[in-house]
Amino acid sequence: MKIEHNSVVRFHYRLRDESGVEMEHSHDGEPNIYMHGHRGITPGLEEALTDKEVGDVFSVTLLPEKGFGLREEGREQRVPIKHLLGKVKPKAGMVVSVQTEAGPRQAVVIKVGKFNVDLDTNHPLAGKTVTFDVEIVDVREATSEEIEHGHPHGDGGCQQ
Ligand code: ZN
Repeated sequence: MKIEHNSVVRFHYRLRDESGVEMEHSHDGEPNIYMHGHRGITPGLEEALTDKEVGDVFSVTLLPEKGFGLREEGREQRVPIKHLLGKVKPKAGMVVSVQTEAGPRQAVVIKVGKFNVDLDTNHPLAGKTVTFDVEIVDVREATSEEIEHGHPHGDGGCQQ
């Protein structure tokens, strides 16, 4: 079946920056899973996946507007180190996860103090043109429960 609204899709990907340097990939773990049409993934990637099928392999290059967004000024924030997720020892330049009112977010460490850390809360890839190399592993229809929840369920059912 082709990917359409409410398809649950599993795919492997490789993410490259403008100069072709690999930023991340999913090939050493489980494929990424999302439900089509619910903005669970980067908008331009979701668009590119429309009408694709299992086994399709393709690359798509996304400008920041369709990728991880533009960089915004004034997104620096000072937060207590203990609010960082995953018990990390922060260092300048490190990508960390921080709990916000809108849920966990990625941010880049600018400066580390004794108790606080200054973060740039722009997405680490904001402002960058990126390329996804995608391989579609599985496409199925969402269950009525998934549609109700607005997100896909893995083998263990609802994780949220
Ligand atoms: Zn659920």
